[in-house]
Amino acid sequence: MPPLTPAKAEAFRFLRDDLFLHLDEAEFLAQKCEQWVEEDVDQARRLIADLVVTIRTVLFEHQAVEFDRCRFCFRPWPCPTVQAIHQVVKAPNREFVKLVEREA
Ligand SMILES: [Zn+2]
Repeated sequence: MPPLTPAKAEAFRFLRDDLFLHLDEAEFLAQKCEQWVEEDVDQARRLIADLVVTIRTVLFEHQAVEFDRCRFCFRPWPCPTVQAIHQVVKAPNREFVKLVEREA
């Protein structure tokens, strides 16, 4: 793989930083120390849905296809992206697992 040009490397940094900014803001809402007002609750509800859509979109892109390979990154399935999502979603201390246990 050829090295990135300085301009492309800077563009990638801007893109990464911009995405992290959005995730940071979502995290700040969750960790807000003050009492949540109704607007916070409404925004959190919409944000949960948006975060689930984000995870579903990534999982959809990294589905297995013929020969048990990821259709996006062509690595053996489950590819590292699916494994990373699995690691977070299925971690016992995460709310994803607790939520399913509560519903059972
Ligand atoms: Zn993949």
